[in-house]
Formats: sequence, C-alpha cells, structure tokens
Amino acid sequence: MQTSPRARPKSRWIDPFAPEHIRRLVADFGSPLLIIDCARVRAQYRSLARALPGVDLHYALKPLPHAAVVETIREEGGFFDLATTGEVQLVSRLGIDPARCIHTHPIKRDIDIRNALQAGVRVFVADNVDELEKFIPYRGEAQLLLRVSFRAPGAVCDLSRKFGCDPEALLELARHARRLGLVLRGLSFHVGSQAPNPLKHLEAIETCDKLLKQARRERLGPFDTLDIGGGFPIGYGERAPDMRRFCAPLRAALAQLPRRVRVIAEPGRYIAGPSAIGVASVMGRAEREGHWWYYLDDGLYGSYSGQLYDHARYPVEVLREGEERLPSVLAGPTCDSIDVIAENLMLPRLRPGDLVVGRSMGAYTWASASEFNFFPRATVVAANRHAGDGGGV
Ligand SMILES: *Cc1c(COP(=O)(O)O)cnc(C)c1O
Repeated sequence: MQTSPRARPKSRWIDPFAPEHIRRLVADFGSPLLIIDCARVRAQYRSLARALPGVDLHYALKPLPHAAVVETIREEGGFFDLATTGEVQLVSRLGIDPARCIHTHPIKRDIDIRNALQAGVRVFVADNVDELEKFIPYRGEAQLLLRVSFRAPGAVCDLSRKFGCDPEALLELARHARRLGLVLRGLSFHVGSQAPNPLKHLEAIETCDKLLKQARRERLGPFDTLDIGGGFPIGYGERAPDMRRFCAPLRAALAQLPRRVRVIAEPGRYIAGPSAIGVASVMGRAEREGHWWYYLDDGLYGSYSGQLYDHARYPVEVLREGEERLPSVLAGPTCDSIDVIAENLMLPRLRPGDLVVGRSMGAYTWASASEFNFFPRATVVAANRHAGDGGGV
C-alpha cells in the first residue's frame, strides 16, 4: 500500500463529458474533437463481461480503431478481433499478445493472411471453398473458424447477406476443409449490428451447437470454439438496453453447450459507442426562411458519417443556456447540400464558437469520417487512460 502523498496520482478521475471539461479540452486541443473516456470503455467492457460470464470478449477494432481503447481493453484482460492489415499493425505496435487476437475477415488476400501470420495471429475465418484454399500453404500455422450466416432482416445492418455460409451447406464446407488438411477450430457468426433483441443470437447458438456436434461426430476437426460475434446494442437517446437482461437467454443457451467448447464474442459498438462524444464548434450562422442555420466544423462527411453509413441518430445538445428557443438546423461544414446533421430543433440562439455535443458517438463515427472538402477529421483525445493513475488527459 502506498501512503506517501507523492506516490498518489497527480490527477483525479474526471468526467470528460461534463461541460467544463469539454470546454477545457477544446481550448487545449481545438475543434472538432472526439473525446474518448477510457473509464466508460472499461465500464462497458465490464458490463458485457458480467452479462456473459465465461465468454472471452474480443473487442472488434472496426468501430473505433484507437490505441486508447485497445490499451484499455488490454488492461481489462480482454481479447481482440482484427479484420485488416491496418488493424493488425495497430495492435502489433501496441505490443498486444497476438495469441489474444483473431482475424475475422471472411475474404482476404494472400498478403493479408501473411501479414497476420507474421504478426503471430493464428486464428482466421473463412466461409467458402475459395477462401479455404487460400490457407493450403499455411495449413501448419493457421487455424480456422467457419462463418455461418443467419439472415437478420430486422437488424439495422444485416451482416449475414454479405458474409457467411448457409447452415445447410456448412458440413460440406467443413468436409472440404478436412480434405485439404486444414485445422477447423469451430464456428462463428455475426447476427448484424445493433440487434433489436437476442432472438437471432439465440437461434444461431442453437444451430451452431448442432453443427459443432455433427462436425465432431464426423471428426472434421477439433471444433471446440464458438464465436457468437457482435451486435450487442446500445441506446441512442432512448434508454440503453440492460445488457444482463438482453443476455439472459444467451447465458441459458450457452450453459447447454458441452463444457469443452470455448465461447468468444466480438463486441464493437457496445464497447465503443457510449464511450465517446463528438464536439463541434459553430463556424457561422444564417437565418433562412424562419430557421437559424448553424454551420459546424464537423458534419456528415466527418464524425457524423455514421448517420449515413450506420443509420444512427446521435443525440445532440448545445453548450449554451438561453430561455428563448428558435427553430434551428445544424449543418456540417462542407459545400454539399446533404451535409445536414439535424433539422427542426428548438435551440437557443447560438454564436460562432459555441459548442455542439453529440452523445454516443464512439462507434462507426470517426472511424468512417472523411476529409471531404479538406475539412480535417476530428482530433481524438482520450481521458482516464489508466485505471491506476486516475484521470487527466
Ligand atoms: C463489425 C464486426 C463486429 C462488431 O460488431 P458490433 O455490432 O459493432 O458489435 C464484430 N465482428 C465482425 C466480424 C465484424 O465485422
């Protein structure tokens, strides 16, 4: 135990989403910003770990591929889900143990496979014969999960249209892999992001349980891993789903699996989404047809890109008090007419330099932002980086 005051952390834990800290961070780092709170990353990770005890959580880097998030997950004892050479390089640079990583892109070039193998990653995903054959030169090193598709027309992003093998065709694919001498570790699926309820996960777990048993009966490989993917939902403005409750049927289904099956998951949005906010500044304003238009330094081509690609709506608020509310429009900075963040808002009268905050903006926002019109992407700042030494940026 440390008693010396000098050994105590220099800075205390802060809430970087509180207005006074937002203002300070913009004063220090400029605008626009994406503020990541590693304390919230940690809380989201722990909440999902509690909801899915015994399941190894591989943070999927895609929604927010940032070192601060990766390092926070490592401190929590988590694992990683990589899909590209760029993501492999990010975790390698941070010294992440490659044994804690899997590569889950179902379609890869030979160079992608080689880069991942060279970094020490061993587990890959395939969903068709062509992809299996790419692993023939590496059959001594690589192990595979076969990705199964479960269509989810209800999901905001149905990932089973683009990837995955029909459950009916899975065993034939596994037999082919066996003939090629490949090592099959198990099955994976992704029911689609922001799942509205746990029913798809449940159906997929039950079907995969049967397929794993059949594959083992036929001695097609170890088949000792089930990867239940991502899709765990968050709240955007409306109340966040209770993850323990959401996962209750999944816990029950997973408890029925044979003991030797290792279960892993690939949460992305659930970890990253609530853990960051976007902060933009008013560049200028104009009154047009009875509405105040505010032009911000971030928009649909920047951090708000998720409103297009991810079909999300981020709750926005302004850091200005004022009794009088006027019909207002928040627009992005570019010269394109679709670059409008929100319309028909009732806002106090804003001035250039005023700050606009978007909540739940960690996932699929900054990651898919462009520099269209040469407006730079938001600067990322991370607060509360290390659990031990408290807050600060
Ligand atoms: C995008 C993706 C994830 C993360 O999905 P979320 O819905 O954000 O949790 C996980 N696994 C794979 C293979 C993905 O493509």
